[in-house]
Amino acid sequence: MFGRLSRGIAPGTKSRQTVASANREPSETLYCRPHFLHQTPGEGSQAVEQRARLVLVPPRSKKLPWSTGYAEVINAGKSAFNEDQATCRPIILRKTVDNDEQWVLMCPKEDTSDQGVLATYWGLFDGHGGPVAAIQASEHLHHCIKEQLEEILDVIGGPSNVPPPLHLEGHKGKQTEANYALEKRICIENLVKGAVEKAFKNCDELIGHYQASRNQAGGCTALVVLHLQGKFYVASAGDSRAIIVQKDDILQLSNEFTAVTERQRIQYLAFLKPELLGDEFSRYEFPRRVKRNDIGKKILYRDYFMSGWGYKTAEDDDLKYPVVHGDGRQTRVMGTIAVTRGLGDHRLKVYDTDLPIKPFLSCIPEVTIFDLGQHEFGQSDVLIMATDGLWDVMSNRDVADITDRFLEDQKHDPRRYTMLARCLVHQARGTLQGNDWKLEDGSYASFDDISVFVIPLHNIGGTA
Ligand code: MG
Repeated sequence: MFGRLSRGIAPGTKSRQTVASANREPSETLYCRPHFLHQTPGEGSQAVEQRARLVLVPPRSKKLPWSTGYAEVINAGKSAFNEDQATCRPIILRKTVDNDEQWVLMCPKEDTSDQGVLATYWGLFDGHGGPVAAIQASEHLHHCIKEQLEEILDVIGGPSNVPPPLHLEGHKGKQTEANYALEKRICIENLVKGAVEKAFKNCDELIGHYQASRNQAGGCTALVVLHLQGKFYVASAGDSRAIIVQKDDILQLSNEFTAVTERQRIQYLAFLKPELLGDEFSRYEFPRRVKRNDIGKKILYRDYFMSGWGYKTAEDDDLKYPVVHGDGRQTRVMGTIAVTRGLGDHRLKVYDTDLPIKPFLSCIPEVTIFDLGQHEFGQSDVLIMATDGLWDVMSNRDVADITDRFLEDQKHDPRRYTMLARCLVHQARGTLQGNDWKLEDGSYASFDDISVFVIPLHNIGGTA
């Protein structure tokens, strides 16, 4: 099975190296599954068997932070590898050594460097064009986030979760992050949000640097949940999704960023920088491709500022391929890529041209904040994160109904969150009937890689 490896990817397992700075050279990328699956090489070979599509879960003896449940399955043949990746780990934030005397003045007795601040991190990465970017993101994004959060640790507070006092009276030094935050009344949540956004940018540069040095390509979506000081920070760049399922209630914590949802952003950039379209694309959207015999006639179109439709007289330029074109989930940017946010893709070009697509893609996530302190949770309340392989065939309501039924029946099983993740993946994968994977109702099942985290909310940070 490993004979079908992509160029530049070596098979096998390896320990994951720490890279704390975007300026450092990343380690050689080996194809691997998430570290918490603790796979042996033999299990690794079984896991890529696409006629069997075994659903994998962590071993019984290994517990993930918060008793998180996890399950995954490989795709039905769309690529040789499972291109999804996942990370789940605690992050301990410690104050960085800073020689700036202003920091000493502002926080004289609040040194948190010994104890550290505990955060918890979950990440899902859905690769395309090869597994490299998703593996790199799963290995490095949490280090980039840690690095950014440690830079503001004095401002966001110590282990007690109480921000240190800002002693600004009589202070005449240069502007610092802390007094800037005070003057502009910027809340701590927005500093954390900014840190996560900067970390995504740094990680994207790290992946670009790595791919350029190895002549490799590919990208990935990224969905991150960070728990810090009683709040979830949910960062989404791509089309994975996080929802909270709470008795009779579903709360979607992330939005998807695709050629459909970001059409106007893409078209606006094309308006501002038409040179990015080369001589190949039109910035207008049409309900169908314009034909030569349409020239001079009224045709329906949409521009960057329009959510509705209008008429224009068709011109020669309208014969070009629209920068955003396609139906529903088949809609692509420049006929190439469906997701418009993510990491990597620095070398992605329009097929058979030298036109780069990266300028139209964004590595910056949308970050939403969920305050756990504002809610009371029971044993059946969970946060579910999954790649699009699950959401392609299941709605939020489908997932919530399965969750409610499953957890009600398995109240006393200590592995119930992992079993729920397995149940969700199993149902979305379906069963092989002839050459097709089908759902129970006979419709097509998900042929994509599927990865699911189930995070229990009733005992935050503890064991189930
Ligand atoms: Mg996918």
